[in-house]
Amino acid sequence: MLRATGEPLTIEDVELDPPGPGEVRVRIEAAGVCHSDLHYMTGDLAARLPIVVGHEGSGIVEALGPATSGRLAVGQRVALTWRPRCGECDACVSGNPVLCRYGRVFATENGLFDGTTRLHRGEERIHHLMGVSCFAEQVVVSETSVVPVPDGVPPEVAAIAACAVVTGVGAVLNGVPGTAGRPIAVYGVGGVGLAAVLGAVVAGAHPILAIDVDHGRLDLARSLGATHTIDARDGGVAEQVLALTGAGVPALIEAVGRPATMREALACLAPEGLLVAIGLSSADAVVEVPINDLVQRQKRIVGGLYGLANPRLDLARIFDLHLAGRLPLDRLIGARRPLAEVNEAYDSLKAGALGRIVLTP
Ligand SMILES: [Zn+2]
Ligand SMILES: [Zn+2]
Repeated sequence: MLRATGEPLTIEDVELDPPGPGEVRVRIEAAGVCHSDLHYMTGDLAARLPIVVGHEGSGIVEALGPATSGRLAVGQRVALTWRPRCGECDACVSGNPVLCRYGRVFATENGLFDGTTRLHRGEERIHHLMGVSCFAEQVVVSETSVVPVPDGVPPEVAAIAACAVVTGVGAVLNGVPGTAGRPIAVYGVGGVGLAAVLGAVVAGAHPILAIDVDHGRLDLARSLGATHTIDARDGGVAEQVLALTGAGVPALIEAVGRPATMREALACLAPEGLLVAIGLSSADAVVEVPINDLVQRQKRIVGGLYGLANPRLDLARIFDLHLAGRLPLDRLIGARRPLAEVNEAYDSLKAGALGRIVLTP
């Protein structure tokens, strides 16, 4: 639980109310240590406190609330997604449920659909992060926040699939049309960027350029299918990309979310090139864009939240690809640690640990 920004997380026993209408209780099997939680811990992003963090999890449905749809059963293995779907707003109806208006409600109220929470400690109200709050043994979530997980997909893989993997793989499969046989670059190959490399491989991109400041991550990117690696500490990232590709890359996935890397990424683009920005930053971060470069070379910058995915469809596709051996998601996983070591896990993340750390209650 995050009680104050800048402080370590606390480990406390709290009360979890039974699932309300349209809600389910899930026993957590695995939870990924994602950078986004860190933005809340440092105060880069605002949340109502105290709050149980963790938004990348998987588990087993243990109880159904009243008025659930019948889509889920007790004992069903599920992954948790941090974007709900009301099914009624313009975004949901138009087929882009990641922008469901309740996503904002979850983010600003830090409750569930009705704005209330199922977590408390006596009179103290405790908030939910993105409707998930999975650094816990159990959660109560909207049934629209869970996606079935097929047999054969391990809990750790299911957990990371619903955030890092869908964000990275989806950015390529959904965000970049016509990838096969064309160059692509991925700037920042942490958990999400490595998933984008896997997405580029499965989409048939060539060459695949991985850009980072960390040798271990670059080596891992190469072993996962990147054909070239560029060490950004050497400087001249755009010059190196142009030297390798001639005109620059027609598509680049920016998974860092810093103004300097965004500017460099834009310089790496070929004319008509597409930059898909998927790395979150602090709430006040801005990037300056050279206008003439944008206009005269017809460059495009788009934001890609949650891999521009339709989670229920795209996660099923990702699990299928994994089971078919086309997406080796297990190779994205680094250390496994008990939930009680959550603070040490974040220290390790900040120190640049290789691979996704997964917590198990
Ligand atoms: Zn995440
Ligand atoms: Zn909606």
